[in-house]
Amino acid sequence: MSARLLAGPPAAAALLVEARRRAALLGRVPELHVIRLGDDPASLSYVTLKNRRAQEVGLGSTVHALPEATSQAELAALIARLNADPAVSGLLVQLPLPGHIDSAVILEAVSPDKDVDGFHPVNVGRLWSGSPGLSPCTPAGILALLEYYQIPVSGQHAVIVGRSTIVGKPLAALLLGRDATVTLVHSRTPDLGSFTRQADLLLVAVGRPHLISPEMVKPGAAVVDVGINRVGVSSSGKAKLAGDVHPDVMEVAAALTPVPGGVGPMTVAQLIMNTVLAAERMQAGQAIGQTIEQPGTAVQR
Ligand code: NAP
Repeated sequence: MSARLLAGPPAAAALLVEARRRAALLGRVPELHVIRLGDDPASLSYVTLKNRRAQEVGLGSTVHALPEATSQAELAALIARLNADPAVSGLLVQLPLPGHIDSAVILEAVSPDKDVDGFHPVNVGRLWSGSPGLSPCTPAGILALLEYYQIPVSGQHAVIVGRSTIVGKPLAALLLGRDATVTLVHSRTPDLGSFTRQADLLLVAVGRPHLISPEMVKPGAAVVDVGINRVGVSSSGKAKLAGDVHPDVMEVAAALTPVPGGVGPMTVAQLIMNTVLAAERMQAGQAIGQTIEQPGTAVQR
């Protein structure tokens, strides 16, 4: 058997077409604002890509490039200004932040209504309680990828390897919301293979090259490889990338996402869709800040 490759680019393109269609139905152009501190080359290339994708689908896009030495108070003041600006639909602060800044405080400073990364505790709570909100881009992009390739989720046993707050945990919440039976395993799980071999749908977000060998996969499973590991440099000077799943899993699985070119493109496409979703919710008066607060149900901002 050789697995069907679940390539990210066509699924990402379909998501971007849908984002463009829905953005055109809005009264105003949705705007994405990205704040970046310092000159880290990886952050710079991620931000450039987000900016380019937003512009390609006709969204407004602004990058606020601040010096590395920007203080936490200055950063918080910019966030407060963008939170209050009705022209701003989506706002994200590119991570990692320099050591003198408390990332948790900054992520909570972003309005939950504009939090297109889905990291604000209000959005985390909404995700787990099944209410509408903004979900983290990588897990939501994975759901869009599975939907594009019509990989069944409801009633399937989904095993997620990795419990990070940006991938594993929100992915568990989203898959539960789609009626999968979910098992979440991590570095303290003994005998990892005994769990992964039970998966109809195996999703791996660890950051260890080729951790998942063919013997750890149930024949016929669908496998999503989230890992991006730099394992060397090619002759042309480009970084060589490897996933968390060994390529020989192709011979066992029914479907597999490649690395690179699998989950990666979905993350940026979902960010664009989240910006459109935020703009739609704001226009419909469904944003948390616009909700009429009733006694006992008020949501704190
Ligand atoms: P992370 O925060 O470092 O979390 C890694 C998780 O893997 C942790 O829960 C850890 O368990 C678990 N783990 C580590 N070693 C393990 C082992 N031997 N067996 C089982 N579980 C193990 O990483 P992350 O941010 O979720 O990212 C994971 C990978 O996905 C990275 O390669 C990252 O580059 C990639 N990624 C890709 C995208 C994309 O757009 N494609 C987006 C985000 C991340 P403990 O909790 O017990 O420590």
